[in-house]
Amino acid sequence: MDVFAHGLYGGAFSRIIKPKTSFWIAVLFGVLPDVISFGPHFINSFILNGSSFNVPVFNIPSYVNNLYNITHSLILAILLSFTVWRFLPKYKLEFLAWPLHVLFDIPTHTNFYTTPFLWPISNIKIHGISWGQTWFMILNYIAISIIFLVLLKYRRVSWKFLIIPVLVGVVWISLFTLRKPETLNLNLDGKIYILRTAKTPWEKAQGLSKIREAKEYDGMIFYFDPPEQATFWNKNTYLDLELIWINNKQIIGRDELPSITHRGLVTKTSPGKITEVIEIIKQSRIHFTY
Ligand SMILES: [Zn+2]
Repeated sequence: MDVFAHGLYGGAFSRIIKPKTSFWIAVLFGVLPDVISFGPHFINSFILNGSSFNVPVFNIPSYVNNLYNITHSLILAILLSFTVWRFLPKYKLEFLAWPLHVLFDIPTHTNFYTTPFLWPISNIKIHGISWGQTWFMILNYIAISIIFLVLLKYRRVSWKFLIIPVLVGVVWISLFTLRKPETLNLNLDGKIYILRTAKTPWEKAQGLSKIREAKEYDGMIFYFDPPEQATFWNKNTYLDLELIWINNKQIIGRDELPSITHRGLVTKTSPGKITEVIEIIKQSRIHFTY
């Protein structure tokens, strides 16, 4: 689930269990698992080094994964709760927003950062539904707003608090949905292909997975800046794909990436460093010859 919703659920939850809890401390505990996991990388790459959001997902350093394991484990959250009870007893109820964050993440992630809730004992993860869909976000923020309304009715929050979920929901969902999938036309082998672009870590992790039929495009182009040797797999991929490895506008190799239903799990690694890879859907009929 998104970090803002986690904060709001955390704050609301603390007021559900006790009227006099500190709302904002609970919000803080609600967002901390994500802030600790992604905050250092975010500050390092986007603020200190000024890079854009178009960073390949494969470039996310491994320490982010390690932090994610630590902060998104229910086992470690329980251990941490003992520490909070011992040293910050005043905020022991507010701290519950942290394990609540982990619980809410379990069914709301798929492919991208699934929740290692039993780490380090087990690496079991659940592929749920992705929170990164407009319908889910709208329903989620409606649910949060209703919870705040109920809290207002029972005088657990003042009416001013009602503005928060509505404002955060409207601004955040608008920003999220306005980033429409970008496409470009590419001339390849005498044909024009309509390709969706994958630049952000999110777009790259999703790729063409879970799509069974593409009606408006022929494939996808992934960008790597800086160039790197990339590995692609067909997990959750139901389309037969051709991979075209490109380095500095030169095709350096081609590969087949069959759908998971045809050949089981297959991985393909680029023959060298690449700046782009194009995935062409083999069943696609959009492209035309001129
Ligand atoms: Zn999370």
